[in-house]
Amino acid sequence: CGIVGVLGNHQVAPLLIEALKRLEYRGYDSAGIATVNDGHLDRRRATGKLVNLSDLLVHDPLAGKAGIGHTRWATHGAATVSNAHPHQAGPVAVVHNGIIENFRELRAELAEAGFSFESETDTETVALMTRLHMERGLSPIEAARETLGRLHGAFALCFLFEGQDDLLIAARKGSPLAIGHGNGEMFVGSDAIALAPMTDRITYLEEGDWAVITRKGAEIFDAAGNRANRAVTQIQIDA
Ligand code: GLU
Repeated sequence: CGIVGVLGNHQVAPLLIEALKRLEYRGYDSAGIATVNDGHLDRRRATGKLVNLSDLLVHDPLAGKAGIGHTRWATHGAATVSNAHPHQAGPVAVVHNGIIENFRELRAELAEAGFSFESETDTETVALMTRLHMERGLSPIEAARETLGRLHGAFALCFLFEGQDDLLIAARKGSPLAIGHGNGEMFVGSDAIALAPMTDRITYLEEGDWAVITRKGAEIFDAAGNRANRAVTQIQIDA
């Protein structure tokens, strides 16, 4: 339901929680964040209100300057911790809004390839498919691109990778996604409102776009895979 991502210069867990709070009005049943710290990818998830996730983080903190976060409104699978996002498969973690229509077909293919599933979600197939491509030798960017090419439905996605603390991949197809530009920091949000405390310089992805984001900026590609120029706009939202 709500997506955020941060490539920051400070600890990102508090920023991710703050951004998710600004998306609370959309409704959700569970929440989670993932970070990369010293190359290590890890996550925390909780059902119910964001305060449950914050409490969990007090007892079991998550360090790192790169991270993604999610508030979930379940469409596939009950509101449980194991169905909460981020979904992680080996070296990749994914947050997702919307529905992957062909997830059953992807699940069958992944089962065939020897994978088992930890959740009942459509989203987990995205993480596993990306892992599969990486295990076959593709880079994180290539693996995400291949995976995106396989997905049907209306969705927004953000990917975070083990060993990559300066990389987010974001994709928009039928569900809005905004990229925020900071000073040596970059942000992703399903709604620019989520990013208001961090930046007012926003690039809206267009339908079918996907973006490779580092702290230096965002490289955006259209649905055909060509480099796309998308404007940076200055927005006015009360932080
Ligand atoms: N379809 C996904 C799920 O059920 C994402 C739902 C959402 O947009 O929050 O986990």
